[in-house]
Amino acid sequence: MKHKRLLMTVLVGVLCLGACTKGNGSTPVMNTGDGSLTSSVTEATEPTKVPEPTATPEPTVTPEPTATPIPADTTAPELTLTGESTTKVVARRTFEEPGFVAVDDRDGDLTASVQVSGEVDVNWCGSYTLTYTVSDAAGNVTTTERVVEVAQPETVYPEGKVIYLTFDDGPGPYTDDLLALLDKYGIKATFFVCGTKNTDLYRMIHEAGHTIGAHCMLHNYDVVYESDEAYFEDLNSILDLIYESTGVQTTLIRFPGGSSNKVSMICPGIMTRITEKVTNMGYQYFDWNVSAEDSVTKVTEEILANMINETPKWTYPIVLQHPENRGFSFEAVEDFIVWGLENGYTFLPLTPESPRVTHRIKN
Ligand SMILES: [Zn+2]
Repeated sequence: MKHKRLLMTVLVGVLCLGACTKGNGSTPVMNTGDGSLTSSVTEATEPTKVPEPTATPEPTVTPEPTATPIPADTTAPELTLTGESTTKVVARRTFEEPGFVAVDDRDGDLTASVQVSGEVDVNWCGSYTLTYTVSDAAGNVTTTERVVEVAQPETVYPEGKVIYLTFDDGPGPYTDDLLALLDKYGIKATFFVCGTKNTDLYRMIHEAGHTIGAHCMLHNYDVVYESDEAYFEDLNSILDLIYESTGVQTTLIRFPGGSSNKVSMICPGIMTRITEKVTNMGYQYFDWNVSAEDSVTKVTEEILANMINETPKWTYPIVLQHPENRGFSFEAVEDFIVWGLENGYTFLPLTPESPRVTHRIKN
């Protein structure tokens, strides 16, 4: 430090020698406080040699005669949404942007410049906001929003006396015969299918015009209801298999054992959680209000009597039966159809819009 200060002092001294020939020999030296020394020696230069800066003529002062004043563009573009500002889309179906038009008073059609931000997840019911933004060349910005409601479809209530036949646990050895029987009477039904290697039967069910819904890939309660994740793994497997075989992206589900089952108690609360979740995901789960009780009895006459006795009690009877892999149950189908037709019923397949029949959740 001492060495540096000495060097500065020497430098100041040299400057002084040149500048102080006409002065009094004293040059102000300031201590900057950081240990270095600075000098205002340059102030000692001859002031008469400095040219007059104010003497320079200013050419820029000349006004532009050709410049017509343009009023500033303060008008933002008009952005108009096509369709409603609140739009409903049925879950698990495609949402198509209804469109928009943007026009600016100076820049013309700006529709192509409209930026849309936000996301609509059709696989989860809820309210989504899309934001549309457009700006003109002057930077005036217009923003507007559209609310997209992703929701379950509206229920459509059929008129007259109807019966929904639903067949679980197939396909099986009686699927072919069952399809032929339904065809004989011109009746459409609903098949909640399980996993199978014979996916040709899925295709036949679909091509015959029946509704295909997902039951489960593996009809094993301990596996399917082991955990929430296990259930959805099974559900996705059967949905994929149906889709690969038929091209159908079904949204209809029937839980193994129904939504009121207690066999899922191995995983407490699972039915409460997964029934809510599948509904939010846009699926429709259907239980039943008429049971053939073909898991309880093997007597065809009893199965038929169960269906005939219970059906008239309901406005929208959804009949549960397992005729594809139980011959004694299959044998009851034709008589039940004949009874239904003779009593003025129309047999309908379930759709996502069908009246929902769901049980009270017990787990
Ligand atoms: Zn089943």
